[in-house]
Amino acid sequence: MNLILRNGRIPGHDEIVDVEIGFEEPGQHAGKTTDAAGAGFIRHIGYIDPATAATRTVDLGERWLIPGLWDNHVHFSQWSQVARRFDVSLASSAAEAADAVAGRIMAAPPTGTLIGYGFRDGLWEDAPSFRMLDAVSRDVPVVLVSADLHCVWLNSAALSLCGFGGHPTGVLREEDAFQVERLIDTVSDEVLDDWVDAAARTAAARGVVGVVDLEMTWSLDAWTRRIAAGSHSLRVDFGIYTQHLERAIELGLRTGAVIAGTNGLLTVGPYKVITDGSLNTRTAYCFDEYPGREDQQGSRGLLTVPTNELLGSVRRAAAAGIRPAVHAIGDHANSLALDVFEQVGCTGSIEHAQLLSEGDFARFASLGVVASVQPEHAMDDRDVADRYWEGRTGRAFVLAGLLNAGAELALGSDAPVAPLDPWVTMAAAVGRTRDGREPWHPEQAISRQAALAASARGRHQIEVGDVADLAVTEIDPFTASVDDLRRMPVAATLLEGRFTHSTL
Ligand SMILES: [Zn+2]
Repeated sequence: MNLILRNGRIPGHDEIVDVEIGFEEPGQHAGKTTDAAGAGFIRHIGYIDPATAATRTVDLGERWLIPGLWDNHVHFSQWSQVARRFDVSLASSAAEAADAVAGRIMAAPPTGTLIGYGFRDGLWEDAPSFRMLDAVSRDVPVVLVSADLHCVWLNSAALSLCGFGGHPTGVLREEDAFQVERLIDTVSDEVLDDWVDAAARTAAARGVVGVVDLEMTWSLDAWTRRIAAGSHSLRVDFGIYTQHLERAIELGLRTGAVIAGTNGLLTVGPYKVITDGSLNTRTAYCFDEYPGREDQQGSRGLLTVPTNELLGSVRRAAAAGIRPAVHAIGDHANSLALDVFEQVGCTGSIEHAQLLSEGDFARFASLGVVASVQPEHAMDDRDVADRYWEGRTGRAFVLAGLLNAGAELALGSDAPVAPLDPWVTMAAAVGRTRDGREPWHPEQAISRQAALAASARGRHQIEVGDVADLAVTEIDPFTASVDDLRRMPVAATLLEGRFTHSTL
């Protein structure tokens, strides 16, 4: 069995090529641990005689063929829910957000809790409170979730429902916020699985073949169930959090191992541990104080896991073969995380790595720690960074600096914080701009090739022998303008040689 893709182009090369994809029996393809039936891989790239027999032939019409894309940091069920939520991301003050809630309730009174999403209170001049929402919500429980997920804002009815009745402000942060998010994220498995499948198809339509799902729940059973039910649009590496680490170790889960019975689609991902907060909430743990918070408690942010505890859990995970992925945003949190990798002597990733000490760039490379970054956050947060990390933004959202120091980059969206769309991510990495603004720290921009490689597991072009995880684009991604890159039309996506999306 074979599939021939005719008349394609490889970015960076002039000639028109044909690509033959061969399909092997389960487990036959060397170097690939899969139980998939008939995994497809690239058998030939170049001229293929028109007389060559093919099970199926597809004409690419001189479109560009690239490796299939990955989003290396997503919260998948949250992303699949956000599309269905009320958007408050445009509110530039607490009063505006409350107005938006009033309008929404007037227009269509919800039957259950009204869930809004996407506010950024970092630059608001007024302070949100439950009273502002009570005034407009007519007893409807209202929960607003911040864009970075580290904060929720509730009215009185929702505070009571979520077990925070009598809270002084209605604005909850960090663990309290996560607790509320877990509560409101609880829908039936059946409903959620439908939403997840829809979101997976949408991702495939953007050229995505795989995601690292860092949802904060035990994800193994949910993904196994979804794939068994026929959700086959994406590969998924699922993360494991501290509260589930022992369970994962008992089950013998090791990072990179394929879960049986999932057609090779589900793989054990990393051990995820969150060590500090976020920039918007000024809880990212930094060496310097946040302006305006001098001498206050928490003026340098918040370290949420003591370093000796982090050392213990990273050591435990690494010894069990589970690769650590440490969330660190502030420069101090990043330094401490790198210290832990150094002491344990294991590789892994730091998730976000938003503010770094100059001296730490090279440590990512020397320690073999992947910098798993989300360039679109820089576009969302450039103004907040200019204020709270004033004088330090030259080492914020560093991309070129890390690559030049020899570090490996892995790009992602952190959806729902930014859209699950690697083209948005790559455009931000390459252009450092959005909405026609001046590029922000353009010296930290990276090349289109580097952005693609960091979004495709290190591959910037397809090669013979590769698993046939591919995307077909309408525009050459190596010469596309930043705007075209952001909106890149994707004609087709193949997962192991099987079309998961096609307009061809
Ligand atoms: Zn995240």
